[in-house]
Amino acid sequence: MTTVGILGGGQLARMLALSGAPLGLRFLVLDATVDACAAQFVPSLQADYRDEAGLAEFAARVDVATFDFENVPAESARWLAERVPVFPSPRALAVAQDRLAEKTLFRELGIDVPEFTDITSRADLDRAVAAQGVPAILKTRRLGYDGKGQFRLRTLADVDAAWDALGAQAASVGLILEAFIPFEREVSVLAVRARDGEFRTWPLTENWHESGILSASLAPASLPSSLVVEAIGHARRIAEALDYVGVFALELFVSGGRLLANEMAPRVHNSGHWTIEGSETSQFENHLRAVLGLPLGSTRMIGHACMLNWIGDLPSPLPVLAEACGHWHDYGKSARAGRKVGHATLRADTRDALASALRSTGDALGRSAQVAPVLARLAES
Ligand code: AMP
Repeated sequence: MTTVGILGGGQLARMLALSGAPLGLRFLVLDATVDACAAQFVPSLQADYRDEAGLAEFAARVDVATFDFENVPAESARWLAERVPVFPSPRALAVAQDRLAEKTLFRELGIDVPEFTDITSRADLDRAVAAQGVPAILKTRRLGYDGKGQFRLRTLADVDAAWDALGAQAASVGLILEAFIPFEREVSVLAVRARDGEFRTWPLTENWHESGILSASLAPASLPSSLVVEAIGHARRIAEALDYVGVFALELFVSGGRLLANEMAPRVHNSGHWTIEGSETSQFENHLRAVLGLPLGSTRMIGHACMLNWIGDLPSPLPVLAEACGHWHDYGKSARAGRKVGHATLRADTRDALASALRSTGDALGRSAQVAPVLARLAES
């Protein structure tokens, strides 16, 4: 009996455990909170990621460890890796945790990124804004997610407000100033790399965000094949450079017909939730196969899929369940503003069938605005 340990007990851990059950796997999650949603049906340990006694018990009870949360302290991941196999490696985790290290690596690999500057002081920010210009985004280097730890500078007059908002974090988590990209699209490459180096990707996904949080994903993204090839090549180079094992997502902007890399997530990713019903092997199952050294499953897509995120609270599941191709995911969390509490995936054999299911579901749920950009894309030839 193999037990997979997961650091972090959120919905990603929950969906990993659900996908691992048919493989006969056992799981143990480690999470500091009392109400981690994976712990509703996965054995769990409640301990801080820095609690050595908790980590030691975790290490003793699992055969391999992985992450549902990328901001696990790198030193805890390293400590664990001395006792039990950890995938992705603590080094890959450390790079992906730090926007500066990540963008520097992308650049070294010949992957274009938005112009960026490391900011350690107010004087740095003044110099960088003068050199780079506005609009720009000031971001924390570490611990930012879902649009948190970001401040958008629209004019030069915003520098004071940006520093007031984030300057105090310059010493603790570091800051980076990025050029604001007026992108046409946001896409992600979901990729998996096995322990033996085998590399696969799912069809590219187009993503829409609301207030920095993913709102909807559509797969396959309709992009020129040259950009698809380039995006997959970027993901492969990153995976090989980091000797990466497991699933990761590479988020890219399409701007002026070019790709610019935004960031990578060293774990299964929200933009890949559609793979549960929309592909031969889901991102969750392939992540488990990769970290366990099992053969990878096919990433072939089945038709077309759209995932809608439920942020803050859940709408009624009935309109989704009433669709022949509708799938409902309730994470078992209490409602809270800005919190991901569930998602739905609509899958169909053709773009037209997906558009029609999406339109009726969006109307019935009172979420027409959320589905509108996806419908607009599906209406393009
Ligand atoms: P992040 O946490 O970096 O993924 O940012 C969350 C979202 O904010 C992205 O998915 C984009 O929609 C937006 N965003 C982040 N960085 C930029 C940028 N440099 N230019 C334009 N939009 C951005």
